[in-house]
Amino acid sequence: MKKQKKLMEQPCSECSSSLEQRLISQEFEREGVKVKLSGIKAWVCKGCGEIYFQPGGADKVAKAANSLFELAFVEKQHKGTLTAQI
Ligand SMILES: [Zn+2]
Repeated sequence: MKKQKKLMEQPCSECSSSLEQRLISQEFEREGVKVKLSGIKAWVCKGCGEIYFQPGGADKVAKAANSLFELAFVEKQHKGTLTAQI
């Protein structure tokens, strides 16, 4: 089996700076409803700030955001921001 290269060993594809692991927050908006996810583990470029997720991470973040939107719509929390800590 081939060894997969870990993301942190690769430089930023935009500016070739090194990546450091950080906990980030992301906000999403849909139909006027805002949801925020915080505590997401990701690799952030020290040079340009480009964010790289772990393999499959972006998918999971999108799924979590979708779940939050569902909750927000069910609860009619159309005002303010629904925040989830991972
Ligand atoms: Zn960069």
